[in-house]
Amino acid sequence: MDFQSIINFIRFLYPDKEFISLHEPIFTGNERKYVMDCLDTTFVSSVGKYVDHFEERVCNYTGTGDAIATVNGTAALHMALMLAGVSRNDLVITQPLTFIATCNAISYCGAEPVFIDIDRVTLGLSVDALNAWLEANVEIVEKDGLDSGFTYQQKAQLTQLPKLAQSEFICLHKDTKRRISACIPMHTFGHPCEIDKIVEICKKYHIPVVEDAAESIGSLYKNKHTGTFGLMGILSFNGNKTITTGGGGMILTDDEYIARLAKHLTTQAKIQHPWKFEHDQIGYNYRLPNINAALGCAQLEKIEEFVKFKRDIADKYRQYFSEMGIRFVTEPQFARSNYWLNAILFDSEVERDEFLKLSNDNGVMSRPGWTLMHKLPMFNNAYNSDLSIAESVESRLVNLPSGVVL
Ligand SMILES: *Cc1c(COP(=O)(O)O)cnc(C)c1O
Repeated sequence: MDFQSIINFIRFLYPDKEFISLHEPIFTGNERKYVMDCLDTTFVSSVGKYVDHFEERVCNYTGTGDAIATVNGTAALHMALMLAGVSRNDLVITQPLTFIATCNAISYCGAEPVFIDIDRVTLGLSVDALNAWLEANVEIVEKDGLDSGFTYQQKAQLTQLPKLAQSEFICLHKDTKRRISACIPMHTFGHPCEIDKIVEICKKYHIPVVEDAAESIGSLYKNKHTGTFGLMGILSFNGNKTITTGGGGMILTDDEYIARLAKHLTTQAKIQHPWKFEHDQIGYNYRLPNINAALGCAQLEKIEEFVKFKRDIADKYRQYFSEMGIRFVTEPQFARSNYWLNAILFDSEVERDEFLKLSNDNGVMSRPGWTLMHKLPMFNNAYNSDLSIAESVESRLVNLPSGVVL
């Protein structure tokens, strides 16, 4: 295969660049102005107007009821899982093709992942595999009688979360009687998974859905923003994502009780008082600082411009690779993807590795997909479905330069 011509094409897409990275931040708007305002007013830390502004603008942009800004996407996931009721010894369903943060957050709760295969088209959680695994491996039981197993922290939270507290049933793993307390579908590389169907299945099994939308700000499924379908969703504003706050994340939810508790728990569970330090639970220092939120406000003003640029680049890749006979990963039906990271699939691992070497040796950055989670030493004993699609994709996938340039 003519790998050199692919590299030439990427150089044609990103002219005037000696080294072409996978993705890099771009600051062409009000970033300097807003950050300087933080410095001038000294509001750089946990107090300041930009956090509120940023949350409000994310609400408007995504259509979510509430948005709670956090220090990063991993913290947002950890908090979201805790608020969904995930606790020690629980099982949490997710996909093996994801960034490590998804599984780390599950581990922080003392829970363990269950890996379900991905969909060939979306590269997100497979609806069929999820359905089949649940049908064969779980049972629904009434919640009564298990309440004694809840910790102080969980009881404190449950009494404040009417929707969860009222749910009368829980889903148990048949073999181990461990609770399946959440499902985390991930919108891979920004491409929406079939989230409406996943939410529907999980509802049937009384499993709360926390969408890992870390990569998919700007991506819509059936005209609704990703991260707004489940009980909660999370976004990431890390430096390699579509918009960045340096480091940052966001919890999205329509549940006002969850939103209130998320704000409380991310600010050390401090009870509001003019001078007293009083805390009613174990809290976390997970709030986004004002100076990061200032960056976020400026970046969000540009997001539609960024997404348009990324979609144009993706369209050029798509045309080029269709002529080459190489599969280019496109947005699924009913979706508008932000095309966070463009991806192609070679026919074999050998070809894939040859391309990785040649492109990286020639100043065009390319990367394989993440090592599948069930192959990492921390998670190689996890329960899983057949994972043949994920394994096939992992061995052949390459991410290509996808950044926005002037
Ligand atoms: C980036 C990312 C996160 C969160 O990352 P942070 O760096 O903590 O903001 C979580 N999940 C996925 C799939 C990601 O790509």
